[in-house]
Amino acid sequence: MKQNRREFIKNSGILLGGAVAAKTVPTQLLRKNSKQNKNKTMNFNFKPYTLKLKHVFTIATSSRTTTPVVITKLEYDGVVGYGEASMPPYLGESHETATKFLSKVDFSKFKDPFELEDILTYVDSIDEGNPAAKASVDIALHDLVGKLLGQPWYKIWGYDKNKTPYTTFTIGIDKPEVVKQKVKEASGFKILKVKLGRGNDKEMIEAVRSVTDVPLTVDVNQGWKDKHYALEMATWLKEQNVEFVEQPMPKTQIDDIAWLTENSPLPIIADEALQRIPDVIKAYGVYSGINIKLMKCTGLREAHKMLNLARSLGMKVMIGCMTETSCAISAASQLSPMVDWADLDGNLLISNDPFEGTKVIDGKITLTDYPGIGLKPDDKVFDRI
Ligand SMILES: [Mg+2]
Repeated sequence: MKQNRREFIKNSGILLGGAVAAKTVPTQLLRKNSKQNKNKTMNFNFKPYTLKLKHVFTIATSSRTTTPVVITKLEYDGVVGYGEASMPPYLGESHETATKFLSKVDFSKFKDPFELEDILTYVDSIDEGNPAAKASVDIALHDLVGKLLGQPWYKIWGYDKNKTPYTTFTIGIDKPEVVKQKVKEASGFKILKVKLGRGNDKEMIEAVRSVTDVPLTVDVNQGWKDKHYALEMATWLKEQNVEFVEQPMPKTQIDDIAWLTENSPLPIIADEALQRIPDVIKAYGVYSGINIKLMKCTGLREAHKMLNLARSLGMKVMIGCMTETSCAISAASQLSPMVDWADLDGNLLISNDPFEGTKVIDGKITLTDYPGIGLKPDDKVFDRI
């Protein structure tokens, strides 16, 4: 016997499901959207804060014991996103410059935080430079949007949280006995990053190697001037189980660096030579890979684009940081399942971190499932700063 179409649909439950989908759900969504777009506004706040470093931090060009940061807060419909600008003095931004820049950001131009591209293009257009201040808006907006969606960004981007790398832990330039002590304290890490470039390169590596045999990376911070010395060191470092050399020579010595990359047994990674998207193109053919930092590239929106661009050019990618709280570190870590190396130890170097988020467990970057940039919910954090 032939069952008529309506009878078939009724028996199979399709009609009921279809009715629910057609009638209830879209109406609710429409109502929510129209309400969202009418009366709600984004409220933006920021506060200067000073990070205290656990140890004096020395690289090829400077030493310091504190880092100025600004913490941002972006609120919409009762949901709060947090962001951060970290500003090591040698990069030229400060509490003053960031405060001045952030005072100009006018969110009343926008009604919907999901207009993320337009909002951040506007923020970028307010003034030149100020990459860390811009990043503090970008991170807060990503945190907010992820929270409104109820998902962390690694999931929104479709990444596998199990693929996060080990993070390097940075050992600054110091006397051998101090270096040995720092390496002993870093015994939980599976890979270390050693700062070089102050004339005691082999002494530094030999001090580290007297304590541990974990893989190393080195960061010269433009400290080598001669390409033949750089190649000799890269060859020696390869024998010491070093995985790559970061910014071996001044960024202006482009031909020397291209020659080194061509001849070096280790990958050569751009850091100081690279800030934003156009620099990835410039680094292609000169360096083997790039070090992306949110504070240099204005935040997650551009970092994500740089990652994809570098990958499509066949370049290596690492993600790095400044001394930062767990806010900016958690944001950067959302990209970490897609990188070759991560240097996200900035929050571990400070003694007054107001946030809790991404952790390092057995040396591995371990993402949380909290929405947005992965911070543990804390309503009072901005008041405590
Ligand atoms: Mg570096």
